[in-house]
Amino acid sequence: MPNVALRSETDWDGWRQATRALVLASVPPSEVTWSVVGPATDLPSGTGSFTVSRALVALASLAIQARDQDRFGLLYGLVWRANAGDNPLASETDPDLLLARRLAFAVRAEAHRMRTHVRFLATEDRLLGWYAPAHFVLEANAQLLARRFPKAMFSLITPDGSAHWDGAELRFGTGLRQPEDDDTLLAWWNAHGAAVLDEATIGTSVPEAEDLDEAPRPPDRPAIGPVVLALATDPGLRTAVRQAVTCQRCALHIPATQTVFGEGPAGAAAMFIGEQPGDQEDIIGRPFVGPAGQLLDRAMEEAGIDRRTIYITNAVKHFKFAPRGTRRIHQSPSPEEIQICRFWLDVERVHLRLKLLVLMGASGARAVLGRPVAVTRERGRPFRLEDGQLAFITVHPSYLLRIPDEASKAREYQAFVRDLAMVRDLMEGG
Ligand code: SF4
Repeated sequence: MPNVALRSETDWDGWRQATRALVLASVPPSEVTWSVVGPATDLPSGTGSFTVSRALVALASLAIQARDQDRFGLLYGLVWRANAGDNPLASETDPDLLLARRLAFAVRAEAHRMRTHVRFLATEDRLLGWYAPAHFVLEANAQLLARRFPKAMFSLITPDGSAHWDGAELRFGTGLRQPEDDDTLLAWWNAHGAAVLDEATIGTSVPEAEDLDEAPRPPDRPAIGPVVLALATDPGLRTAVRQAVTCQRCALHIPATQTVFGEGPAGAAAMFIGEQPGDQEDIIGRPFVGPAGQLLDRAMEEAGIDRRTIYITNAVKHFKFAPRGTRRIHQSPSPEEIQICRFWLDVERVHLRLKLLVLMGASGARAVLGRPVAVTRERGRPFRLEDGQLAFITVHPSYLLRIPDEASKAREYQAFVRDLAMVRDLMEGG
């Protein structure tokens, strides 16, 4: 039984060479074991050639960066089947394909999260950042940073390893477990940085991630510690968030990247409830960060609501979509899916006990009221729920994005801002 020992967790070239040799030698996936830096057997020598679709290569190049010990074999199995004429990409419900896609989406999400969360400290000669990525995205992100910002010398440290760009070469070295704070990171770098740089070696190329839109930034807030997420501080809710990560109560978790729970401070003035995470929320893992969230931010600002003072969540915690080519087209959750996922919404409501619920759109309203809601007829006036809690219905911001006519869109937007101004008054106790 061949054992393939890859040089690193992201040894893309090694995996490709081994896959090619094994397929040509007709070695089925069940007879191959994969490891990283373990004992290796010689690869068989096969003859001939075969090609794999670009879509499968693109999928594998992302999924191989996932922190999943079975990914090398999973991806080899997909290539093996494609070569045998059983194209896994032909079936949207193929379990191996779905698993590989989930890994790929998770990698993309983590690459994006790393780029948006890591904050760099300015040292004498370089920018210094630390981050603990959930997947093996250090190399891909470092390559992107170096390519996009060739003059920005940086060292990017993670528990798995570190990447160092000096304007000419990108090298990889040892990492660091989470430092307590920025001072600890700087002290570690001052004590060990020179040795780390001395020992760092040029790495193998890894698959490219998506393009960067940001340069490494000096911190406008601490590089370490409570970074960006203002996740609810209620301990019971934190436990629920962890449990919801693996929720399989309905089938929506299968194609989605991750559970997107609500977020906001424990003492929030109101809970805003939308429908479900969208494409960007699914990748980033936070609610209302895509186009609808940005529109909501703008409308809140105009209405005098500080988003940092509210808790925002969705009726359904996984993104429901239909794949169309490389795009994922939003699909509304069914009443049954809303009802099943209400479990988590109730957890949020019980733990936070906020005095006001703002129900945005038909799904958000249905999740709380348990019945179909005609939003345009019922919006704009506060009412009491059976348990005495105050509620208020308005439109979902994505509705405004879908209005094709600019005049109607502007009119509806102003009506939305007026609704939010009423919400502000309710939040203030007026
Ligand atoms: S949509 Fe809700 S109920 Fe369904 S799997 Fe996701 S978190 Fe669970």
